[in-house]
Amino acid sequence: MAKFIFVTGGVVSGLGKGITAASLGRLLKARGFKVAAQKLDPYINVDPGTMSPYQHGEVFVTNDGAETDLDLGHYERFIDEDLNRYSNLTTGKVYWNVLNKERRGEYLGETVQVIPHITNEIKSFIYSVQEKTDADIVITEIGGTTGDIESQPFLEAIRQVSCEAGRSNCLFIHVTLIPYLESSGEHKSKPTQHSVKQLQSFGIMPDIIVARCDRPVDDPSIFRKIALFCNVKEDCVIENLTLPVLYEAPIMLEEAGLAKIVLRELGIEKAPQECDLTEWKHMLDRIKNSRKTVKISLVGKYVKLHDSYLSIVESLHHAGWENGAQVEINWVDSETITPETAPEILGGSTGIIVPGGFGIRGIEGMIAAADYARRNNIPYFGICLGMQIAAIAFARGVLGYEDANSTEFAPDSKHPVIALMEEQMDLADMGGTMRLGAYPCRISPDTLMMKAYGKGLIEERHRHRYEFNNKFREVYMEHGAIFSGQSPDGTLVEAMEIPGHPFYLGVQYHPEFKSRPNRAHPIFREFVKAALEVKEKNS
Ligand code: GLN
Repeated sequence: MAKFIFVTGGVVSGLGKGITAASLGRLLKARGFKVAAQKLDPYINVDPGTMSPYQHGEVFVTNDGAETDLDLGHYERFIDEDLNRYSNLTTGKVYWNVLNKERRGEYLGETVQVIPHITNEIKSFIYSVQEKTDADIVITEIGGTTGDIESQPFLEAIRQVSCEAGRSNCLFIHVTLIPYLESSGEHKSKPTQHSVKQLQSFGIMPDIIVARCDRPVDDPSIFRKIALFCNVKEDCVIENLTLPVLYEAPIMLEEAGLAKIVLRELGIEKAPQECDLTEWKHMLDRIKNSRKTVKISLVGKYVKLHDSYLSIVESLHHAGWENGAQVEINWVDSETITPETAPEILGGSTGIIVPGGFGIRGIEGMIAAADYARRNNIPYFGICLGMQIAAIAFARGVLGYEDANSTEFAPDSKHPVIALMEEQMDLADMGGTMRLGAYPCRISPDTLMMKAYGKGLIEERHRHRYEFNNKFREVYMEHGAIFSGQSPDGTLVEAMEIPGHPFYLGVQYHPEFKSRPNRAHPIFREFVKAALEVKEKNS
């Protein structure tokens, strides 16, 4: 019988519920369990694909092309299992499915209601991730904070799961905050008590409380008080300290006994194997021993919210650690860059990355950055939009096509070096109509791409509408660019590079989704390595 763990959050948002769920997943996997993770997001959007990164941070794309919450990136990085479209559900999607069934007459004339129709839809989603993955343990995180009006059907659904699957096969973990009051010099348990009361009013008795605190709680009576008032065992109140390195969380929670208590409360007497965190600990040692530093400029238009580029930031760190270095990010708002300001803003870094993005704002600044990198032998890595930008900068700066552009930004350009794919021309909907998910890519020998991957056929995840315009391939090649990655049938450009430069590479896909803390993505690894070499050469 599979076991179900539900992770809810209380008091405030942003407590690292996702990290807690992901860390627990790692600890259970380290004991030999097959773990699946999923997130239920109570907002009404069908998926985060059409939301502004400022609302929601990055959109994480799965192999099977689902546009999902950024917490799924934590799950993949911590648990190291690829997720799928059964890993993220929103209120919008629940209603979408229910309304489609209603239109098809599947409810046989019944009145369609929140209970049971909406809750049934949510429950079947929870069960389906278990069926699809055959997991021993499913970890389901409920987005938002207990008490949000949108969360109620989700809480009701997980309560029902605990009746159907059996209370002993389900576990509720509530993540809360123990704030510290400077004025009185003490930690406070009351917000946690209130939040648990609220959860209980929905019929959910948490079994474990994971309490986030910014500084260690020295007074153990706080935990006793929480246990007493919230009706949990004393050792089931677990301290979750804010850490300097995210990836230390599984070790901290292991030391606090989280996984052991989880198994005990689920009635699992014996795990398939002893907990093995050797590799994870080696990685943490590597992080501590990474003493070099390297500065990389990240040039984008959503830089005010760093979560907009979460997976890219993590990938840069992973790559740094594999090169024995800490990567420092120079956050650059692309609207501030012009050919004149570029040297001053970008001059202090020895690597420039232009990540993905949509819409015209800030595009000229990105082009100026790509141009500056090409002319000054600074390693450049363009991701998705960043590859398109590199192609435009090359057309303007090397081929002399002054008006070169993407038809996304200049529909009437005489040199549309980036354009829409034929089959996309007639689409009006914005949601879910892009080239999404994993596609194969063939790599040419003797290229940066081959040096990084070390093999001729790879698979990477995509999320874009526009493509390199094949009409221009020849003239690019005549002027020294190479198309080092292509779709296996040769029709789509997946990677472009400029030989003779220390590192100048753009890829049409999103490698950042596949980087792991203990297995940096090969392109990021080579990019950071090149940036370190340029730094050493300059000093
Ligand atoms: N806006 C570009 C496109 O749709 C790039 C998308 C991206 O960077 N994810 O093709």
